[in-house]
Amino acid sequence: MVSLEVEKRCGCFTRARLEESLRFDTKEQALKKAKEMLMIMNNDFCGKHKFKIVEENDTVKIVEDEENN
Ligand SMILES: [Zn+2]
Repeated sequence: MVSLEVEKRCGCFTRARLEESLRFDTKEQALKKAKEMLMIMNNDFCGKHKFKIVEENDTVKIVEDEENN
């Protein structure tokens, strides 16, 4: 199982009603969903935050992209 987690959720995340933790059978599925969520988070959120995808062993995380903020 691969989990998809979102760190550093701001108010926009709660308002968008995205799920903060999901599980998938494969990393490909997790990455596909992460990319969909990333698009929403980077395009529809308040614009004060930029996010990026980080892959770890059995976890795909969406974290705030500090360098581009
Ligand atoms: Zn925000």
